[in-house]
Amino acid sequence: MKNGNTNFDFLILGAGIVGLTIARELKSRFPDQSILILEKELMVGLHSSGRNSGVLHSGIYYPPESYKAKFCAQGRIAMTEFCLEHKLPFREIGKILIPTRPEEASQISLLYERGGKNGVVVERLNKSDLSRLEPEAQSATGDALFVPVTSIANPKLVIKKMAEVLTGGGVTICYGAKPEFIDPVAKRVVTKDQEYSYGTFINTSGLHADTVAHQFGVGRDYTLLPFKGLYWKLDPASGIKLNHLIYPVPDLRVPFLGVHTTTNTEGDVYFGPTAVPAFGRENYKLLEDVNFLEASKFLKLIGIQVLTGRQGFRRLAWQEGRRYMKPWFWQAAKSIVPRLKMTNLLPCDKVGIRAQMYHLPTGQLANDFVVEKAENSVHILNSISPAWTCSIPFAKMIVDQYIQ
Ligand SMILES: Cc1cc2nc3c(=O)[nH]c(=O)nc-3n(C[C@H](O)[C@H](O)[C@H](O)COP(=O)(O)OP(=O)(O)OC[C@H]3O[C@@H](n4cnc5c(N)ncnc54)[C@H](O)[C@@H]3O)c2cc1C
Repeated sequence: MKNGNTNFDFLILGAGIVGLTIARELKSRFPDQSILILEKELMVGLHSSGRNSGVLHSGIYYPPESYKAKFCAQGRIAMTEFCLEHKLPFREIGKILIPTRPEEASQISLLYERGGKNGVVVERLNKSDLSRLEPEAQSATGDALFVPVTSIANPKLVIKKMAEVLTGGGVTICYGAKPEFIDPVAKRVVTKDQEYSYGTFINTSGLHADTVAHQFGVGRDYTLLPFKGLYWKLDPASGIKLNHLIYPVPDLRVPFLGVHTTTNTEGDVYFGPTAVPAFGRENYKLLEDVNFLEASKFLKLIGIQVLTGRQGFRRLAWQEGRRYMKPWFWQAAKSIVPRLKMTNLLPCDKVGIRAQMYHLPTGQLANDFVVEKAENSVHILNSISPAWTCSIPFAKMIVDQYIQ
């Protein structure tokens, strides 16, 4: 790059699935314009887009007017087509949603209605339907929901292939490239090796999207409050066979789905992810990437949420905080698969961190994706689940409404 082009029509920061799908959309609309993606890591997939559960969600949970609801179904279909076109593993597995407490009975009706509004095929199951479809699952009320249109793919392979296709199509991806200085007025970005100028800057930096947006004078109402998703692997020798993904009925006030089962395309089953506080933006292991100043800010925000009890946070903190410890995690997992023994859960290194934004004026966790625009730049914040599922149609909307 030293002697190559350093002037690009579009500069995208972050080669996660959101940045890559926006690059793909831009390339197909403006084939003659130049696109540069700067990625701080030496390869794709080291953060959320390579660490997620790999579920192509149906969109049943989300309020109909949300981006999440609008793009889930189209996104699942578009990602399926991408997997089929590139011969990547993919499976239509279906999902079962079960109440784990008797008082969640009404949530089943609410989710059934919401699914209908969002155009998702949902079937109501009674006790005998449930034991026929998923003999290992248990419902606290006897009722359950079946969502046949939930699929799984391999997020690492998807993102690797997408980067390959883009590079082959003329998009430049620079790895190990992190801006040391950004000048939004001069439209200039300086990394340790190079200086670039751009026409439009697109911030898709996931866990760092708030700090980048703040440099452009936007997104100041948002700050990251990272939550770690830990998984445990089901011992293949446990004798427990699951036919579908099994999810508890979630608390719809918060953007977390509760400990559920995830089967990957190789057939391995995981329980998780938790939603426990992380002490750094990339705090995947113990004290890795812990900045004590930032960690104290995160703890303060959690403390405020617990004290005010907003979004059912007291219960969430009590429930999720304990799931750092195996016995409590096992309790949550056992509530959907009662035959599970604690010894059936094997430790594994699967862990991800949600790029969850906290909305400062309302003191609430943001529930939907957030898009902020400044002059010559667009910023994607709160790209939490199911942004992986939604990414392809979401990218089309970004180009239509914020870039075109
Ligand atoms: C535990 C977990 C499970 C999930 N499960 C699912 C699921 O089953 N289905 C689903 O649809 N979604 C799921 N999600 C959500 C999904 O993974 C994310 O919404 C999605 O991957 C976000 O993509 P992204 O491109 O915004 O972020 P990322 O994948 O994090 O990409 C951002 C990129 O920007 C780079 N970057 C950051 N800062 C800079 C900088 N300053 N300079 C250069 N590069 C930078 C990073 O290195 C990274 O590669 C899950 C998320 C988690 C955490």
